[in-house]
Amino acid sequence: GMLLGGIFLVVLVVVVARAERKRAERHDELEGALESMTARSRTLVTLMDNLPGVVYRIEVNTGVLTFISNGSAELFGRSAESLVGAGITLTELIHQEDRQSVSAARHWAMCAQMRHEQVFRIIADHERWVLDRSVMIEGEDGVRYWEGLLLDISAHKESERQLDFLARHDALTGLYNRKAFMAAADERVAAGGLMIYADIDRFSTVNDGLGHEAGDQLLVAVGERLRRLLPPGGLVARLGADEFGLYLPHGNDDPAQVVEEIQQKVERPFTILGRPLIVSLTAGYVLSETNGDAQALMLNADVALYHAKSRGDHALRWESSLDKHVASRMTLEQDLRQAIGSEQLYLHYQPQLDSHGELQGVEALLRWQHPELGMISPAQFIPLAEETGLIFRLGRFVLEEACAQMVRWQDAGLHMPRMAVNLSARQLTSGYENEVFGVLESQKLSPTRLEVEVTETLLIQDMEGGLAVLGALRELGVRVALDDFGQGYSSLSYLSSLPLDVLKVDRSFVMKMDAVAGSDGGIRCPNQQAIQLVGAVISLGHSLGHEIVAEGVETDVQFEELKRLGCDTYQGYLLARPMSAEAILERFSVNA
Ligand code: C2E
Ligand code: CA
Ligand code: CA
Repeated sequence: GMLLGGIFLVVLVVVVARAERKRAERHDELEGALESMTARSRTLVTLMDNLPGVVYRIEVNTGVLTFISNGSAELFGRSAESLVGAGITLTELIHQEDRQSVSAARHWAMCAQMRHEQVFRIIADHERWVLDRSVMIEGEDGVRYWEGLLLDISAHKESERQLDFLARHDALTGLYNRKAFMAAADERVAAGGLMIYADIDRFSTVNDGLGHEAGDQLLVAVGERLRRLLPPGGLVARLGADEFGLYLPHGNDDPAQVVEEIQQKVERPFTILGRPLIVSLTAGYVLSETNGDAQALMLNADVALYHAKSRGDHALRWESSLDKHVASRMTLEQDLRQAIGSEQLYLHYQPQLDSHGELQGVEALLRWQHPELGMISPAQFIPLAEETGLIFRLGRFVLEEACAQMVRWQDAGLHMPRMAVNLSARQLTSGYENEVFGVLESQKLSPTRLEVEVTETLLIQDMEGGLAVLGALRELGVRVALDDFGQGYSSLSYLSSLPLDVLKVDRSFVMKMDAVAGSDGGIRCPNQQAIQLVGAVISLGHSLGHEIVAEGVETDVQFEELKRLGCDTYQGYLLARPMSAEAILERFSVNA
């Protein structure tokens, strides 16, 4: 019995001692955990207070705020202490017009047991938008809370609004662009009306003779005058370089008379760069049939304009006998067909530099020296090539020539980091990536040295799977640039989903960064609103990880402001014009 009792005692002591040691260990552990928890919650608090927004907790039943992070001072202009414990509800801080929809959405999220996510305005001295993300949780006290995060997205909203405005308006004249014009006209055609397509005669003489600045001012002045003479319910738009569209509600007046009056008003002198200038307008027009659409009307008015121009008429009303295809176009097509592979077609290269003037690459630009007509702009013959399918051969020529030139420069001792080539939407049909790889391989050129420039129309519509082709090109290292960014652009939201490396900010944006003040001598001065917009585009692009290239940099002010905004790469007449391959070599080789 004694022995048994002794053994029991020993065991008991051992067990107790072990338990004691365990308890001590556990204590240390707990203490450590507690310490790391305080450290962690300190980190959490720091994080919360430095978030670009506010973390909050409200009671579900009463809506009363029981916690809010220090960001509230920034967002609501009220400290956390003044809000919590004062019985204030989150609803009181929401803009009156949005309260209803927020409470409805929360209610719905609660019933569906889903996260609540919503964009709304809060009360502030100016318009302020937040993104609210919250979840419902049950506290230890059995009370249900919404715990969430409010992010200030006002700046984003504002640039979205500005971009949206630009998407529907012509950057130079502020008039509607083609897309917006068509949409607005579509709503009105059923009521009947007069569609006019007008074109400034010999605009290029103004542009080339007096300079781009005069050309731009003239376009603005003509647009302004057209806008002023519109009757109520009328529309005006800039449809192309020097082309305007008008849609007038149907009156009882003779359409020929109406068109004539408009032309007369435009033909009164303008003052451009301080001197008087008189221009004339050629017009094609058509009366809307009750069930036609705006696009068909515009096409007919355009055909009438085309015939008016080629006959030398001042104005022409469309009729079905007017053929849509015009002889001069056909001969141009024939000529272009023959020009491919001849010396008439060649490439010029425009340098792209960084802010220190270091060469980053060149953009290949196609040139056509027509034996009789002289230089024809790619803006004129590329659309023709697209329409007729010649673009495939033309595009192949450009790609091969551009890659071959990279090798020739290399052999001549010039290292060219990158070659950018413009692609037409039509070229990007499935399998096109193989053509590119084939050319790269035959020249033994690394894909990373090639960049393709595409425009957003292509990407938005994703015709014939162009996006997949771009994806395949990128996978092999070819860089993809979005050209003319800001022109005819519809929404920010799709931008992040595109396979892109580079954003090329459109020339019209850059141009507006320093407006010409007054008409006497043209003093350039910074335009803060335009600068801010470009700034927003640059930071948006950077936040998506894209390189930003500014196009059409023509003045020192533009260059300086762009540098200040952190633009990466610059292209434009100020730095270098498009030039021959030899001229590039001369200017950029180290020995030069
Ligand atoms: P883009 O791709 O936007 O090319 C830039 C255009 O702006 C070029 O006109 C260039 O000469 C001009 N430019 C460059 N810097 C300045 C500047 O500082 N101020 C002004 N006012 N203009 C500047 P270009 O060579 O007449 O080309 C016109 C368009 O034709 C191009 O616009 C591009 O869309 C198209 N294009 C040119 N080459 C090709 C090609 O090989 N393939 C395809 N598909 N399209 C091409
Ligand atoms: Ca381009
Ligand atoms: Ca461009």
